Amino acid sequence: MSLKQNMTSHLHREKTADELQKRTFDLLVVGGGITGAGIALDAASRGLQVALLERRDFASGTSSKSTKLIHGGLRYLKQFEFLLVREVGRERAVVHALAPHLVVPEKMLLPITQRGTFGKFSTAAGLFLYDLLAGVKKEDRRRMLSRRAAIAEEPLLDPKGLLGAGLYAEYRTDDARLTIEVVKTAIRHGAHCLNYCTVEGFYYENGRIAGADCQDTLNGHSFTVRAAQVVNAAGPWVDFLRERDHSKRGKHLFLSKGAHLVVPRERLPLRHSVYFDVEDGRMMFAIPRHRTTYIGTTDTHFEGSPDEVFADTGDVHYLLEATNAVFTGADLTHADVESTWAGLRPLIYEEGKKPGEMSRKDEVFESPSGLLSIAGGKLTGYRLMARKIVDKVVQRLERSGAGPFRRCATHTIALSERPFANAREVWQFEMHLSGKIKMAGLPAWKGPALTELYGRGSEDLVRCAMEAGGGGEALAMAELQHGLEQELVVTALDFMERRSAKMYFDIPSIPPVLDRVLDVLAQAFNWTPQRRAAERASVLQRLGRCCPA
Ligand code: FAD
Repeated sequence: MSLKQNMTSHLHREKTADELQKRTFDLLVVGGGITGAGIALDAASRGLQVALLERRDFASGTSSKSTKLIHGGLRYLKQFEFLLVREVGRERAVVHALAPHLVVPEKMLLPITQRGTFGKFSTAAGLFLYDLLAGVKKEDRRRMLSRRAAIAEEPLLDPKGLLGAGLYAEYRTDDARLTIEVVKTAIRHGAHCLNYCTVEGFYYENGRIAGADCQDTLNGHSFTVRAAQVVNAAGPWVDFLRERDHSKRGKHLFLSKGAHLVVPRERLPLRHSVYFDVEDGRMMFAIPRHRTTYIGTTDTHFEGSPDEVFADTGDVHYLLEATNAVFTGADLTHADVESTWAGLRPLIYEEGKKPGEMSRKDEVFESPSGLLSIAGGKLTGYRLMARKIVDKVVQRLERSGAGPFRRCATHTIALSERPFANAREVWQFEMHLSGKIKMAGLPAWKGPALTELYGRGSEDLVRCAMEAGGGGEALAMAELQHGLEQELVVTALDFMERRSAKMYFDIPSIPPVLDRVLDVLAQAFNWTPQRRAAERASVLQRLGRCCPA
């Protein structure tokens, strides 16, 4: 693959850091999760000069640790949050249209059981309302299934106490990939985005926020980024930055931990995603994804450091027990668990409510210094959150004489340089790719898996793999090269976790390529032997944490 000179290559990191110090931006965004990335894209595409700083890797916070659904949130109907369901439900189709290869339609099966949350009538009515609020197309609307039909659709369901099921439409994605694609699209629209750059504090002029003091954590360089407006989109870290601005008053964040685990598909060979009841009154997802099935989530108050969030033995035990209770003969044990992850929901604290009862709505805090902080919300609604906050930023800028700026148009901006028009085109591409996948000596599941990750770019990767002799290792090296040249990969974990998703869904592929991956990175970044050893240790530590004993 030719070395493409673009600003999403690691080769341009220094140049981006230079630019960040040279000019005064219209907007500085702190945080490179989906919220910050969405804001950067919205603002840059309206004509604002935008900077975005992320202290670790893009999507390394909550935005790589979600259930990876673009969904309307059926359970919010139970909390009578009709407006939220309507808004987010409709947004699903918009996000799907922006990246049909990455936000894929997924049928969800909701079993109705004697002791479950929803009865037959309430499921039928609830799903009807859900589709109606979300404006779901006729052909995709919910189907109610008898007990027998439910078992035919999902033979693993425990027939004991089963009354039937509802089958309805949602979308599945890869949260980290979605975030990276939004960052890349923002860069194509002129935003300056830098990972591994921490905002240490804010910079003020006449008492008004006017930028941030930051440190490039890869080389230790400190510098100031100047900007007319600053948005704090630091997810679970939002309150830390509000403290730095001396403006953490009134409402504050409540962090709730959610863990997931991954088992090989053959250990839980589901046909559909299933949204099922747990004994304690909560609900959980089991979601098939290519060679694996993943299960989640928990919902527990978290009081530790947001920098250290992992699934523990208790989380794994809870998830396994709940799954075994619903699927006959699954008998999953700790030994089946290939991988885990856990993330923090940055919820807005509500007195007297349990984590599961707190609203997932987003909220904006405006500080006396002018800092805008945004927290809460969902992956699914990232574009709407961005529109709301950029409207506010634009209003402020135009009031001070800047602009005029364009209106929000992110509903028309595809999240790919070579976009697919719709799901049908994606399917045709996958068919076309499947022959090449075979010729490259790769398993059939790799075709759709690669398409979801890289879109049309997956064909180039397979071709590179074939030129290098074919097989999984050759493909991994092609993916790494792509990550370095076009996706701002800086560390081994950036590549393993958030670009290629191997750390979540293809653990067995990691050990055979680890040393070659480290060699390529060491050469690209001129690492010392110590740095290489530290990188190796961090991958091994992460692998160890995938399966808590
Ligand atoms: P983050 O992704 O955490 O990003 C904040 C970023 O700010 C981090 O990368 C962090 O490193 C950076 N940062 C912090 N401090 C600084 C600093 N000083 N300088 C520079 N950068 C800094 N939503 C859905 O729509 N669908 C789902 O299926 C779903 N499932 C979920 C399951 C779980 C278990 C959880 C926890 C959440 C789920 N969500 C889901 C919600 C969704 O994941 C979050 O709303 C979303 O990812 C939050 O994104 P964010 O950008 O606000 O935060």
